[in-house]
Amino acid sequence: MKYYMGKILIVDLTAGTVSSEEVPQHVFDAVLTGKGLAAWYLYKNIPAGADPLGPDNILGFVSGALTGTGALICGRLAVACKSPLTGGWGDASCGGIFSPAIKQCGYDGIFFKGISEKPVYLYCDNTTAELRDASAYWGMDAVESEIKIREDIKSQKRPCVAVIGTAGENCSLISGIVNEGGRIAARSGVGAVMGSKKLKAVALAGSRPIPCADHEAVKALSKELGTRINKMKFPSGVGGMLGLGGTALGIMPSTPLPGPVTSLIFRHWGTPSNMPLAITSGDGPIKNWSGGPKDAKGMTRAYNPDVIKRMETVKYHCYSCPLGCGGKMKIKGNPFTDYTETHKPEYETIECFGPLLLNGNLDSVVAINEMLSRGGMDSISAGNIVAWAIECYEKGIITKEQTGGLELTWGNAESIVKLVEQMINRTGFGADLTDGVKRASEKYGGKEYAMHVGGQEPGMHDTRNDPQLAVHMVTEPAPGKHTIGMAIQYGAMSLSDICSWAPPARIHGKGRDYIPNEEMAMISKANACYSLLTDSAGGCYYAEMMGVHMWKLVEYLNAALGWNYDGDHYMEIGERIQNIRQLFNIKHGFDPAAVVLPERMKGNPPLSNGPLKGRRLRTEEQVALHWKAFGWDPVTGVPLKETVERLGIPALMEE
Ligand code: SF4
Repeated sequence: MKYYMGKILIVDLTAGTVSSEEVPQHVFDAVLTGKGLAAWYLYKNIPAGADPLGPDNILGFVSGALTGTGALICGRLAVACKSPLTGGWGDASCGGIFSPAIKQCGYDGIFFKGISEKPVYLYCDNTTAELRDASAYWGMDAVESEIKIREDIKSQKRPCVAVIGTAGENCSLISGIVNEGGRIAARSGVGAVMGSKKLKAVALAGSRPIPCADHEAVKALSKELGTRINKMKFPSGVGGMLGLGGTALGIMPSTPLPGPVTSLIFRHWGTPSNMPLAITSGDGPIKNWSGGPKDAKGMTRAYNPDVIKRMETVKYHCYSCPLGCGGKMKIKGNPFTDYTETHKPEYETIECFGPLLLNGNLDSVVAINEMLSRGGMDSISAGNIVAWAIECYEKGIITKEQTGGLELTWGNAESIVKLVEQMINRTGFGADLTDGVKRASEKYGGKEYAMHVGGQEPGMHDTRNDPQLAVHMVTEPAPGKHTIGMAIQYGAMSLSDICSWAPPARIHGKGRDYIPNEEMAMISKANACYSLLTDSAGGCYYAEMMGVHMWKLVEYLNAALGWNYDGDHYMEIGERIQNIRQLFNIKHGFDPAAVVLPERMKGNPPLSNGPLKGRRLRTEEQVALHWKAFGWDPVTGVPLKETVERLGIPALMEE
């Protein structure tokens, strides 16, 4: 008996055909689904050297192994392709309700190859899988087109629709794919690949049952987790005090944070809870990664999570998630936008368009949030690019003539909003910024102020505050991402309780992390393996943060899949997936050793104020130790033959 759907849908956009393929049991056993299945399929089927925006690239939407089984917080969607932004492996993750809809149509994943002559969308339900004309929706923003496509389909079941906005249609290399009006698979330029294929949307309205080996056992685990989550209550009105907590964190030793505390915080405020903490603790980059808390004066008040929570009209829950860290809010009297509703801005968006730009204007951030959702653009990349542009303008590298009259000064909310609009629409000065900060700085100069890692702009957590994060940003096959591992995450997870080789998280002086050491290499390896396992199960990052004793991933997998494996076995699945992603990069000529942190992100020159004052990283040395821990060449980052064979990868890739 298979406890996965066992099939993938293959859509050839050039030929206009749709077919299905079996997913062999041994492949599922080795990599599950999610990013694991995507890595397996894309490694095998994208030819070396394929143009990321050409017909040979493949765009995959893959559901998680636990999605739809009754397991909680397991509804994340994995989107993968060869990244046009980095030229290597690309993937993005997204909440919402799209992921279970793939399985309800009878598939573990849907893969698109080729390029359509005219705009199309895929419609799929229990009995139909066909391409339909999308010319009428081309040119509409993501929110508008999602609504219109859903209305026009007129199916009995409300279709789940994933769609690109204007940025994706324009093949902006920082564009993403949107569902539910604001949940976005944003990273790696996945939206540009969809746009290059002239694929406007994917609409799913299936209702097939999703298999699960032991419903009762899964239900019992979910009841236990749900009860713990529902008991958690947080006193309101203390959001403003989180800044004090951040100040304390900035001077305290590294301390494992209990998983339940993090979930309590996210349940109450969502990710904006991190704003004051980030500003004061050194976690949140300020002034294009060159400033400290003194430069961001007043912003802990401007972005007080209590203020943002008061604007929330309804909480937003992704599929199967009782946490509901998201929210929707009405927009009233906002001088920067005529839109009346938006998803609550996430921490990454607020940090990017707030302290990173020294912008204390919450209205402008709310407006930009809705613009990016509608345009379908990655807020992390967009914010880093605008920060570079402002710094270049300040230093005279970019002139007012070149910006078309935009006064690009720190905190100039009006200019920032206008520039984002241009980037989405590929117009004016924004047209030169919409393909990422690396390309923009190659055209205008100011490369030393262009914050990117291997071509992708980094997430809003300061590497100088967390040397482990620095290693993940560099070694991640889709570099620059912040979701693969962090010290605070490792401290919350208690991985050593499920994995025999994962070191325990300990209270220790922060200084220790700044000296390269093998224990931290095992920590970063364990963190990466567990994150890939979570992604392939469809789990959320914030579920991981609850720790293994609250969100019981190993128990969930055993119950839902009818297995009886220990944590070591599952960690090896994560390790295998990470190896395949790295091998994808090697196959496509993406050199892992060429990926480095910008000097500023390593503390060169060191910051002059705040908790990161004087901090410098020795990332190259720690990266070599991380690669060695993975069984990869410590100089080149290429997986060694014995590692690849131990993980059974050659056999997995045979036809
Ligand atoms: S914790 Fe937040 S992002 Fe994660 S699944 Fe739940 S609602 Fe979605």
